[in-house]
Amino acid sequence: MLEDPSFWKDHNVQVIIRVRPLNSTEVSLQGNNRCVRQDSCQSITWTGHPESRFTFDLVADEYVSQEKLFKVAGVPMVDNCVSGYNSCMFAYGQTGSGKTHTMLGDIEGGTRRHSVNCGMTPRVFEYLFSKIQKEKEARREEKLQFTCKCSFLEIYNEQILDLLDPSSVNLQIREDLKKGVYVENLTEFEVTSARDVLQQLLEGAANRKVASTNMNRASSRSHSVFTCVIESKWESQGITHHRFSRLNLVDLAGSERQKSSGAEGERLKEATNINKSLSTLGLVIMNLVGISNKKALHVPYRDSKLTFLLQVYIFVELGLPWGNSKTIIIANISPSNCCAFETLSTLKFAQRAK
Ligand code: ADP
Ligand code: MG
Repeated sequence: MLEDPSFWKDHNVQVIIRVRPLNSTEVSLQGNNRCVRQDSCQSITWTGHPESRFTFDLVADEYVSQEKLFKVAGVPMVDNCVSGYNSCMFAYGQTGSGKTHTMLGDIEGGTRRHSVNCGMTPRVFEYLFSKIQKEKEARREEKLQFTCKCSFLEIYNEQILDLLDPSSVNLQIREDLKKGVYVENLTEFEVTSARDVLQQLLEGAANRKVASTNMNRASSRSHSVFTCVIESKWESQGITHHRFSRLNLVDLAGSERQKSSGAEGERLKEATNINKSLSTLGLVIMNLVGISNKKALHVPYRDSKLTFLLQVYIFVELGLPWGNSKTIIIANISPSNCCAFETLSTLKFAQRAK
């Protein structure tokens, strides 16, 4: 099933649920009591009251490895980008549900040859560069070339911080006829290997930690967006062709209900902004699915930096509405009774994207 390539066919939006293993705190509080029961590789039941059953493109249980998840979700995303289209992957879920484990995993040890826990992003780039090499060899007579440039930013409280240059705070999103939507003054690094990317990831992750400590807030309260712009260039019949595509990898802020009651000042603003950006993202994605079903909705995507920045890549392509972009949402959940209501809320969010 997972290896079946037709699994992904004709879907531009894929929704995957990833269930993480119970952790020791959960076991000590609730034993092995679970709030979900997996029915098949595409359906899962929330076993609270009333019982609710949900169907997705894939429900990955705790035994689905990092490598397997990469093969199912990462490979088609890279293939799509190398063909010249945009791809976006989002990790959604409450804090502690496994978003960062899914997107980055264990990167301290290097690329996947070193660790089974190495996550999606390093695997994606290792595959991207090997794919690029093969394409170049196959199309040598066209002088096919690729250039990959990466950036890494964080959105906290509707402010954009450059994770590769933390002295750059509150960067602005601009719109330009030629460049489209872009972040002004954002650092871009050219990368030629998975190792280059890993270095940026580690640096960005360290800067993210420092930024959150300095600002006295948890890093789970911000979204992080790692982007790679892939430019390809080739010659045919004396003409040079250019193509651009984008790969966006997004680790979202924790989706747990942000209490605005009782909160004041910065905390209230933070809670409101997280709620708003996640719910607008939900609407953007619902709209994508809606358009594929021929019914467009109005989406206030300008209401949040996250959706303003990304919607153009998941939504509009080469002037065509909803071209060949691929969007994958990995909604991470804990199976423990301790998290029953947050897990239900994540399943409902993911369901809306279907
Ligand atoms: P989040 O980023 O959503 O806050 P993390 O990715 O940091 O959550 O995960 C919380 C903890 O659970 C980490 O220690 C992580 O290693 C562990 N974990 C999460 N998902 C899995 C998984 N699928 N398998 C094993 N451990 C996991
Ligand atoms: Mg995290």
